[in-house]
Amino acid sequence: MEISKAQEIVKNHLEKIGYTKIETEPMHAFLHLIEEVGETARSLLYKETPRGKIKNTTKPENLEEEVADIFWQTLKLASYLNIDLEKAFLKKYEKNLKKSH
Ligand SMILES: [Mg+2]
Repeated sequence: MEISKAQEIVKNHLEKIGYTKIETEPMHAFLHLIEEVGETARSLLYKETPRGKIKNTTKPENLEEEVADIFWQTLKLASYLNIDLEKAFLKKYEKNLKKSH
């Protein structure tokens, strides 16, 4: 699947479930992204350190879903900022290619 298609899916889904104007503010999307990054961190802490018994860690079974959540929230943020993420990604890729030569 192309990134632009994934971004379209997220945008259509949000419209379908009727996100309010406040929820479509970029800062709200950004905070949601950070929340998902935190959930991924909790899952990694559980997996990578002997912290399974510490509260606020989550079981590593959720790791795949948490990383997908980060992608979803990134697509959402890009949409609310009117960023074409596929185009931005390719631009960044070319920039990184130049750095490696
Ligand atoms: Mg999550």
